[in-house]
Amino acid sequence: MAEKRGCGFDSLVRDCYRSGGYVFAPSPATLQDRHAITRIARLASNENPDPPSPRAIEMAVAALSQANRYPDEHVTGLVRALREYHGPYNFVVGVGMDGVIETILRTLVAAGDRVVVSTPTFSFYRLAAIGQGAEVREVLRRKDFSVDITRFLKEAQAAKVAFLCSPNNPTGTVTSCSEVEEILGAMEGVLFLDNAYVEFCYEDYRPLMKKYDNLIIGRTMSKAFSLAGLRVGYAFVPDWIVPCYSRAATPFSLNSVSAAAAIGALQDPAHVARARDRVFGLRKMVTERCRFPVTPSGANFVLVDVSPRTGREVSEELATKGVLVRSCESFPGLGDQYIRVSIGEEWEMELFISEINRL
Ligand code: PMP
Repeated sequence: MAEKRGCGFDSLVRDCYRSGGYVFAPSPATLQDRHAITRIARLASNENPDPPSPRAIEMAVAALSQANRYPDEHVTGLVRALREYHGPYNFVVGVGMDGVIETILRTLVAAGDRVVVSTPTFSFYRLAAIGQGAEVREVLRRKDFSVDITRFLKEAQAAKVAFLCSPNNPTGTVTSCSEVEEILGAMEGVLFLDNAYVEFCYEDYRPLMKKYDNLIIGRTMSKAFSLAGLRVGYAFVPDWIVPCYSRAATPFSLNSVSAAAAIGALQDPAHVARARDRVFGLRKMVTERCRFPVTPSGANFVLVDVSPRTGREVSEELATKGVLVRSCESFPGLGDQYIRVSIGEEWEMELFISEINRL
């Protein structure tokens, strides 16, 4: 047996995991310790400020008492609840949409295959694709953050998988159904359309599933459904994906308590409607009253251009006032002059507006 070598194992670690990695939003605990602030506006992670639906909690508690058993490997109850909520589509589920993205890539992408992303966007597509040994191509969005379809297609035509986020994180930009169709019609590979924030816009992409069998639509229960801490994601998939996805997935990855909570949450659509109404109202308020330019958003957050200051400076300054927002400097393809601000409760947005307008 080898003797203990301390840090001498670096050469065993794959190149892609020697540095970099997912950038997490600042945590409220750090802020509490650093600035002794007790009431914090948590506007950095695009969560729903409402606790989960009582029905979700009730079902999760009931499931906990049977946690000595492994979950149902087919997640039958949740798939049935998804069909009741959305209609007769094919679904796969995962540990958050992050888990779905990872399993889809594991299912489809081998080392050297091309994966395309439309930047600036959610960072995990790239990270998960690199984990598969993919060749990642980033296609820059236009100045107004809309997708340059011609440039995107030039790269995506030969891709195994292309990712498109709508509404896009961190810009909030919505790509229309007709633009998505233009891409789908010209692609040989699969388009993964990330709809994490779709409940907060007016576009409905689900009908496209009936027309295209190279489309996957990712969804999450972390935002509109208030279940971020339970990690439930799912996707609308063409039928050919279902058996291969099951083979590639980690066994029993979605735990039984989370699956039960998700079923309960889907049975309370009024919860989502409340979140949607609040986001529509407060997003408009922030857009109108913020003295810095706000990018039009279809999500539960807005991107604010704080130039000539940097996103880092402004987010650090807001933190000292008890307002946590996300500096966007870590998003490739975006300048360093942006912050992303989640739409929280009314008092949080009032506090944000008064502090940012005072800068
Ligand atoms: N896609 C986008 C665009 C996101 O912003 C996020 C979460 N920040 C996810 C996917 C992952 O969501 P989940 O919490 O379901 O893993």
